[in-house]
Amino acid sequence: MNIDGAAIQAAVSAAHRDSAGDTGGKNASYIPYLASVDPALFGVSVVTADGGVFEAGDARFEFALESISKVFSMAVAMGDVGLEEFHDKVGADPTGEPFNSVISVVLHGDTPVSPLVNAGAMSTVSLIKAEGPDQRWDRILAAQGAFAGRRIQLSDAVNDSEQSTNFHNRAIAWLLYSGGTMYSDPMEACDVYTRQCSTLVTTVDLATMGATIAARGTNPVTREQVISDQSLVPPMLAEMTMEGLYTASGDWAYRVGLPGKSGVGGGVLAIMPGILAIAAFSPPLDPAGNSVRGLKAVAQIAEALNLNLYNAQ
Ligand code: GLN
Repeated sequence: MNIDGAAIQAAVSAAHRDSAGDTGGKNASYIPYLASVDPALFGVSVVTADGGVFEAGDARFEFALESISKVFSMAVAMGDVGLEEFHDKVGADPTGEPFNSVISVVLHGDTPVSPLVNAGAMSTVSLIKAEGPDQRWDRILAAQGAFAGRRIQLSDAVNDSEQSTNFHNRAIAWLLYSGGTMYSDPMEACDVYTRQCSTLVTTVDLATMGATIAARGTNPVTREQVISDQSLVPPMLAEMTMEGLYTASGDWAYRVGLPGKSGVGGGVLAIMPGILAIAAFSPPLDPAGNSVRGLKAVAQIAEALNLNLYNAQ
């Protein structure tokens, strides 16, 4: 399937125009930095699996990657321990709970259920092979950069804001440890996880990161092979389908049909395998923690371009 560039640009521009006036939702406030970001910001971008870049609005504004980081650390950990061990230790089911719930850790002591909620993401970080937390962090940051095709940097402002308020995640890390599903020092894993959430990306970066997954692990702009093995890609997409948008994942699969991932910084990513990735950013969130404008824009672009994984032509 080859989509005409003019049609993509028209869909991106229309999605931006049609949701720009939507004032629904509220910035995340439990991380002080995120509460201070201008809620009017709104960027949309598409990057195709052959490297075409399309954008509208604030697509070059840098925002906190937050939970979307979970996807890229998952790729590193899957490559390190292999798909079977990753599945056994972390899981691949929807949790049915908010992203920071302790329920999955407490009820399912054998796995944290999904790598795309906070519990499973910290467990995932702890599985990444490294001599210590600094090397683990370096590998995660390098992976984010390779997916994006440029150096990605930590925001000290975001990181300080999160590290000084992340008591809930620290508690989850200790629960994982006591349940036997934390594979490094728990406070080190929580620290590295918090850093991976505190990097800055633009919507164009995010769409490029997604297009790298759409292109089976090779960054379509830099041509670097970023995911160690193509066989990791379908399970990554399955994880995104199951839990990428938290408690809204099932509704999203039903209505839109694209594996996705959101973050409380306001970023949203969706992937049509083999074709393209759609990214959007706008800070106000719905109660599930997904960007209101972001979800609308991504869904509109998918519909305009007739992209649905369950209706692949
Ligand atoms: N850093 C955030 C947290 O751990 C990420 C959550 C999110 O984006 N859903 O709470």
